[in-house]
Amino acid sequence: HTRGVISESNDTAPSGWTHAYSGKVRDLYVPDLELLGGAHPLGDVVLVVASDRISAYDHALSPEIADKGRVLTALSLWWFEQISDIVDNHVVSVEVSTTHADGLIPPQFAGRAMICKRLNMFPIECVVRGYLTGSGLVEYRAAQAAGLPGQVCGVELPTGLTDGSKLPAPIFTPATKAELGDHDENISLAQAAARIGEEPAARLRDLSIAVYERAEKIARSRGIIVADTKLEFGIDSATGSIVIGDEVLTPDSSRFWPADEWEPGRAQSSFDKQFVRDWLTSPDSGWDRAADGTPPALPAVVVARTRARYLEAYERLTGQPLAQ
Ligand code: ATP
Ligand code: MG
Repeated sequence: HTRGVISESNDTAPSGWTHAYSGKVRDLYVPDLELLGGAHPLGDVVLVVASDRISAYDHALSPEIADKGRVLTALSLWWFEQISDIVDNHVVSVEVSTTHADGLIPPQFAGRAMICKRLNMFPIECVVRGYLTGSGLVEYRAAQAAGLPGQVCGVELPTGLTDGSKLPAPIFTPATKAELGDHDENISLAQAAARIGEEPAARLRDLSIAVYERAEKIARSRGIIVADTKLEFGIDSATGSIVIGDEVLTPDSSRFWPADEWEPGRAQSSFDKQFVRDWLTSPDSGWDRAADGTPPALPAVVVARTRARYLEAYERLTGQPLAQ
């Protein structure tokens, strides 16, 4: 994996699986085929484990947020169901192991792991924006400052938009998957096509927009605006078809805003790391974002409020409290 291991898993190696990769939040394991007698009973699979790690401004933070991994996993599983008529997903099983090395989910990962089809991931992040903010807003303003029509990733937008404005229609604004330590870079559809081919790029755009529109509608009925979201797709080598992978429509991969507080023209309060970002950038933390050093440990109150926010997002969207 070109993005490298940025942090070793804190979890002890489970029986039947070998640690293969750790991102900022998830740990991937591949089957220990020798132990499993030559093949995994469920086919060509990987074990995707969501940790309780949290990051902000591209820095891993401490301490962890209890139950965050279970929220990300349960919410992804719920969304995969809500969009299953639009696109197949990578989930194969969430069954927990009962015997030694049966290839199922090790008990210590129960609730925050999924056995998934191993996909050949497309090297682009499929971002859809229904609202203008973040890097989209930065790009829009830069184009205007250069005397051009406001645009994001080559998509032209009306004038007069501000932070938090609703776009006339959702737009596909792909990004490169940056190498470790780098920031993802927004690219145009044409640049995405140059990387993965014209037909797959158009297909990913259509799927991404369809998924966003479905999610936006469901979330809105529960009082949450999905301002934007990042999706990842891959190819199932057994069938050659496009499958949606990774996590979907979680507070980590999306901007969720409380609908009743939405007010364009300012930064919106968001449903995820708001308290973390607010504290880090406040004088209290003593952290200088521009200097980009290691951020200080989060205070207990920030951790507790962040945990509550993740649980609330899950509960509001699914209508159910997270299982204990
Ligand atoms: P970041 O910290 O920026 O999110 P990351 O996306 O590399 O970096 P994680 O999200 O923690 O890190 O790790 C998940 C990784 O697993 C991603 O690289 C993702 O592309 C990959 N992945 C997700 N689903 C599958 C799958 N079914 N098959 C193969 N790889 C997958
Ligand atoms: Mg990721």
